[in-house]
Amino acid sequence: MAVVAEEMPLSEVDGMEERTEHKLLGSGIGSAFELASSMPDEILEVVGGDARNAALLIANARSRLVKGGRLVGEFATASEVAKSKERVGFCSTGSASLDGLLGGGVETGSITEFFGAFGSGKSQICHTASALCHLPPKEGGLGGRAIYVDTEGTFRVNRLGEIVRSRGIDKDEALDSILYCRAFNVPHLEAVVRSLGGHVRKNDARLVVVDSVINLFRSEFIGRETLAERQQRLNILMHRLHNLAEVYGIAVIITNQVQSSPNTLFGDPTRPTGGHVLGHSSTYRVYLRRSGDERVAAMVDSPHHPYSEARFTVTDAGVSDTKKERGR
Ligand code: ATP
Ligand code: MG
Repeated sequence: MAVVAEEMPLSEVDGMEERTEHKLLGSGIGSAFELASSMPDEILEVVGGDARNAALLIANARSRLVKGGRLVGEFATASEVAKSKERVGFCSTGSASLDGLLGGGVETGSITEFFGAFGSGKSQICHTASALCHLPPKEGGLGGRAIYVDTEGTFRVNRLGEIVRSRGIDKDEALDSILYCRAFNVPHLEAVVRSLGGHVRKNDARLVVVDSVINLFRSEFIGRETLAERQQRLNILMHRLHNLAEVYGIAVIITNQVQSSPNTLFGDPTRPTGGHVLGHSSTYRVYLRRSGDERVAAMVDSPHHPYSEARFTVTDAGVSDTKKERGR
């Protein structure tokens, strides 16, 4: 079962005073995992004192995880990094072809971003991966729960039921393994993301979905003068998701919308929203578009995949392979 379930109490973090531990516990930071994935500002707010002390606490929590073999330490050898990669797992999207594009599925320790127009299949991927996540690795899952953060109100239990029924997966088991959270506005989303670590640990979650990461920001920050603040807050949110993926060794899926760029003369005149902040903070970026009855996924940004495309379809079973792909 998931490694995140093992406890690493705050008391095991070097330099942890009882008073500090008490304050951290009171604010929902219950283990070295939560402390290691926190941002210095929020620790400063909780424990007081100076910024250096807050940063040191986080660094010590990370060291504890390094000691426990959960994180790679500073200046690790490439062989040590390679060894840590052996722990990487993949959650299936439901389509072998799309999983192939991703190098095996949605990877743990990373953020995978799916962006595309309305109806391109972003939420279908989120639903299907969430439905499969609890399965053992040999069946395409990560053997743990999924946490689904929905900012658009498009999460559908009926759809999950249909997906698992079509795949012959036990419905109760699948539905019990998905935790749902509706985020209503940006401050709420920020609070939800801040609290995710504790939920991941307590529930043995191996996948976090944020569908979508951008729409609340788009509707609440209107006008050019709000752009700088929007980008800064989005940046912090993405940073937290990154920490979460790395520290807990979980997979993170985010979805993003597209905006048209009228200057494009050739090709598809759409690009992802969120500007550089999203562009730089997702590990993998996958562009989805419709092509007749099928969907095309393109890996547009990855530290190690070449540009490539895959076809998939959406059926009662959720994201699936096209007949042609199945026949291969
Ligand atoms: P948005 O930007 O609006 O959130 P999205 O990319 O999340 O869009 P999805 O909700 O993933 O879009 O895709 C919706 C599409 O999925 C529908 O238009 C339909 O084509 C397809 N779909 C949904 N359910 C089924 C089903 N049971 N069988 C076949 N196709 C389905
Ligand atoms: Mg959607």
